[in-house]
Amino acid sequence: MEKFSNLLELTQVFNTEDKALKHLKEIRWYGKPYCPHCGHKKVYEFKDSKLYKCASCRKKFTVTVGTIFEDSKIPLIKWFISIYLINSHKKGISSLQLSRDISVTQKTAWFILHRLRLATRTKSFNEPLKNTVEADETYIGGKERNKHLSKRKKNTQGRCVETKTPVLGLVERN
Ligand SMILES: [Zn+2]
Repeated sequence: MEKFSNLLELTQVFNTEDKALKHLKEIRWYGKPYCPHCGHKKVYEFKDSKLYKCASCRKKFTVTVGTIFEDSKIPLIKWFISIYLINSHKKGISSLQLSRDISVTQKTAWFILHRLRLATRTKSFNEPLKNTVEADETYIGGKERNKHLSKRKKNTQGRCVETKTPVLGLVERN
């Protein structure tokens, strides 16, 4: 996100949803839209400038598919303001406070904060991981022999999802 000296400036630059959408397209695609489903570079743009269709897999998509903004009816400007607020509140912002600031329910504010925290942790909401990607997995959950007899289950050693939670880590090298 570009640097703004204050919140007023941000809301003046993105005073319509179309402008916010255009900005997201620029920072995500650099003017070259690609399919978020298969990565194909030849895509068709619909007249409304929102919907696209992939020439290869034929699936439809918008710029938010595959980003933290996907699957929400929350206007982009509210997302942008939230990003600004989070970055300017060093000690964090509560979902209650955010819900008041951008006029959404606390549940929606919680959802926004959750996604933005995920994005700042992974730094990957703009592009998929590339180059050398390292992956590892582990299964979290106690050993059966340490549990009370009544709670033990048979044949659940090692990689068993019945009694353990799989955790997958992905990181782009360097
Ligand atoms: Zn495709």
